[in-house]
Amino acid sequence: MTLAFDPETLTLPCAHYIGGAYVPAAEGIAVTSPSTGMAVGEVPVADANTVDRAVHVARDALASSGWAGCTPRDRLKALHRWADLIEAEAGTLAGLEAICSSRPYAHALIGDVTVTAEQIRFFAEFADKEGGSLAPTNDSSFGYIDDAPYGVIGAITPWNFPISMAGWKLGPALAAGNAVVLKPSEMTPYSTLYMAELAVRAGIPAGLINVAIGDGPTTGNAITGHGGIDKVSFTGSTRAGAAIMENIARTGIKPMTLELGGKSPMVVFADADLDLAVECLDLGITPNAGQFCVAGSRIIVAREIADELAARLAERFRAYRPADTFAADPGFCPIISDRQLQRIDSIVQAGAKQGGEILCGGAQFDHPGSFYQPTLIAGVDAANPAVTEEIFGPVATFQTFETEEEAMQLAAHPTYGLCAGLFTRDLSRALRLSRKLEAGTVWINRYGRSRDHILPTGGWKASGLGKDLGREAYHANRRTKSVLIDL
Ligand code: NAD
Repeated sequence: MTLAFDPETLTLPCAHYIGGAYVPAAEGIAVTSPSTGMAVGEVPVADANTVDRAVHVARDALASSGWAGCTPRDRLKALHRWADLIEAEAGTLAGLEAICSSRPYAHALIGDVTVTAEQIRFFAEFADKEGGSLAPTNDSSFGYIDDAPYGVIGAITPWNFPISMAGWKLGPALAAGNAVVLKPSEMTPYSTLYMAELAVRAGIPAGLINVAIGDGPTTGNAITGHGGIDKVSFTGSTRAGAAIMENIARTGIKPMTLELGGKSPMVVFADADLDLAVECLDLGITPNAGQFCVAGSRIIVAREIADELAARLAERFRAYRPADTFAADPGFCPIISDRQLQRIDSIVQAGAKQGGEILCGGAQFDHPGSFYQPTLIAGVDAANPAVTEEIFGPVATFQTFETEEEAMQLAAHPTYGLCAGLFTRDLSRALRLSRKLEAGTVWINRYGRSRDHILPTGGWKASGLGKDLGREAYHANRRTKSVLIDL
């Protein structure tokens, strides 16, 4: 395909981005292309000193730029300029994304970059429209709720959808008047580094966005445990979220938002529009090779339609073919690393050993790079590892039910509560059951997010704490103060 950027100019810096400049490092850890398995570059690992420097730069920039206390419309305008520049540089950003994440260039170009620019504009608009409020008090007193930015937000993002994840954290944090020290995944850091550079080029004061690269135990721990970080905003696995909670408890309490893992059910009733259901079940697990938090990895189907649905879904799954992340027709995406591919396969094989019947897939594609076939496993009980574990790959279990109660029992997961899908033509049943589901988002007769930025996202139970997106995400980046005076 024609690339909307010059591959010769695609620089992959072995550097952090602190105070509006790249801070190079002599050596680092290898970054690999998942579609070829080849090393594409190296990135440094920020130690405690580098993180300390980034935090101090952020605090100094907040103080000297007047970002927190300026006329809010000035923040709004700067964020709009940044969003415009992100769109103008879509080709380079998409190239930086596709070179090391599993995200196809074509999808990043037409999807992620545009949506991220829209989200930054969405959050910019809150800057001069949302604020404190008067408190209803009695005749002899006057009270109001003031609000203010936290100061410096320590943000940590996962390897999947790096542009989008950076936008989710940076947009509301900056609109709300904060500075940020952001650690992207060490596997996919380049698009985030470039977004930070574009922010400075758009006129956002240098030092408000600082990108410190590195792994979780070194750089992540140094950020979450730093006394100069006022709030932590994390997206990643439940395991890492728990480690962050422990570190924060050990090093000094600070607020946190945690967007964590999931194992979401998609429940199909016999009266559902089957064409629509097949389409959505497919879309619920195959994009990005199932490597997205809201993946509908547990398919739960009314017994009378189960055979037909399984056959139609397996047929679609078998038709997928792998493709390089820069291919014109994106095809089926690679798994981020060989290690993750081995993990996916070991859970699938353990699931089969414990009674699961692999209806399709269940093996690596015969193709260079890390590609795993879309997989359906039937005959699994609630204790099967394919049902309990977040696999983070193109693998869905297939369970059947006789009654509505049984469907709800199967849908409930002991640990996770990120999302759920319901497919039925009976809308009162859908609304009634959506109330029963323990999930932060319920989709009815559809599956997955679109450009609905106003809807907050975030999990129940071990899927998270707090929300990204929506009005909630803006307010999650400000703290309130109650003020009361006797008249
Ligand atoms: P991960 O938890 O391994 O890593 C996420 C980030 O945390 C990385 O930057 C990593 O370096 C860092 N990290 C790891 N351990 C840390 C620690 N102890 N302290 C501080 N930082 C640490 O996750 P991943 O493999 O990058 O991403 C996949 C996971 O992210 C899945 O579980 C997926 O469900 C989840 N996810 C959730 C959402 C959501 O909105 N809920 C969105 C995307 C991904």
